Amino acid sequence: MDRRKFIKNTSITGIAVASGAAISACNSSSENKPDVVITPKSVDKSKFPIAICTWGFVDANAAAGEALSKNKKALDAAIEGVAVEEENIKNTTVGKGGAPDRDGNVTLDACVMDSNGNYGAVLAVENITNVAALACKVMKETPHVMLAGKGAEEFGYSQGFKKENLLTEASKEALEKWKETSEYKPIINIENHDTIGMLCIDKDGDIAGVCSTSGLAYKMKGRIGDSAIIGSGLFVDNAIGAAVATGMGEEVLKTVGSFLIVELMRQGKSPQEACEEAIHRITTKNDKYKNFQVAYIAINKYGETGSYCIHEGFSMMKYQNGKNENIKSDFYNKP
Ligand code: ASP
Repeated sequence: MDRRKFIKNTSITGIAVASGAAISACNSSSENKPDVVITPKSVDKSKFPIAICTWGFVDANAAAGEALSKNKKALDAAIEGVAVEEENIKNTTVGKGGAPDRDGNVTLDACVMDSNGNYGAVLAVENITNVAALACKVMKETPHVMLAGKGAEEFGYSQGFKKENLLTEASKEALEKWKETSEYKPIINIENHDTIGMLCIDKDGDIAGVCSTSGLAYKMKGRIGDSAIIGSGLFVDNAIGAAVATGMGEEVLKTVGSFLIVELMRQGKSPQEACEEAIHRITTKNDKYKNFQVAYIAINKYGETGSYCIHEGFSMMKYQNGKNENIKSDFYNKP
């Protein structure tokens, strides 16, 4: 036994003898303390605010960055940013205009996580555009963390959300074309994977995140991906950092990717190293990785960022000091 563990163990034994069983819960949590703790003292707040998001969503990221610059809190800014894409009918994998399932239903998944570790999500919601804002309402106004389908939709109307038809003429035509072959083959890149995942650090240094999607085009009715699932599509720990995913949700779910990235950062990895490790978990476990794309972006408490994906073509937006830039991601599948 090394000296450090020995000291830890002896002190725990001492407390347990003195105070009995009630203390043992405290012991287990002190035993689980991470080896690397980022203390607020070492954070340089002059780097903040920062907003990053998946893909080249220039306007969405700028909206979040500007909101942060006006002193908005991280979660409010991220919801505002993501709303830009939810309302963009040309974006076929988020919000209104999102590609439907194979039966013609547009069903949206979204979640939010704030800097206090609170989480809210909605799954398979129809007829409501701003599902990230709706997920936030679930978090704040209900005793639950997830609402699905009709229940989520009805809750939305009770909160003043508008009923809208999310299926556009263009999406209808594309579905009819798809039905000619009905080949379910998610294409690798942005045409089919452009879930918006956004992570913000506000001026106070607090972190929050949002993820919003219509999921994979022509999915089976009822299919849920990673985007609204805590730890998979999104995870935030205000003491450490945050991560968000896009791409083949089934693979992200199987490896609980975003939680994994935050835990790797807790152990001392940079956001870049942590994203790479999470992608390697997928590529080493699934030899079919050449057929699908997964991408992660991450930020830590210091404001360092990272991104990594399986295939070339992914990028992230980063807003910092008034500059909103598109950063190409490194990727695993190199010739
Ligand atoms: N991750 C999303 C899902 O699986 C889709 C995507 O990002 O393209 O639902």
